[in-house]
Amino acid sequence: MMRLSFWILSGIICGLVANWKKRNPFYWFLCGFIFGPFAILALAFFPKIEKLKRCPFCSQLVKGRVCRSCGMGIQDTIDLGKDEYKVE
Ligand SMILES: [Zn+2]
Repeated sequence: MMRLSFWILSGIICGLVANWKKRNPFYWFLCGFIFGPFAILALAFFPKIEKLKRCPFCSQLVKGRVCRSCGMGIQDTIDLGKDEYKVE
């Protein structure tokens, strides 16, 4: 029983880390459940995926809500078109 809960816990930790890294939490939950701490270790080396938006004023890629190039705030209500992804 202790062993099973250990693998489930590994799966949950893996899922949470995957979610934080913007990766598929269900897939990583399964990996964590099957491979345990090894999956968590593997996930730790995966880069985080950042969701970027294109600034409508200077068309730079923006992380967050304020453009670093022109300082304009970007609101979610503005249609920015297709979201772009970058691997850090
Ligand atoms: Zn800008």
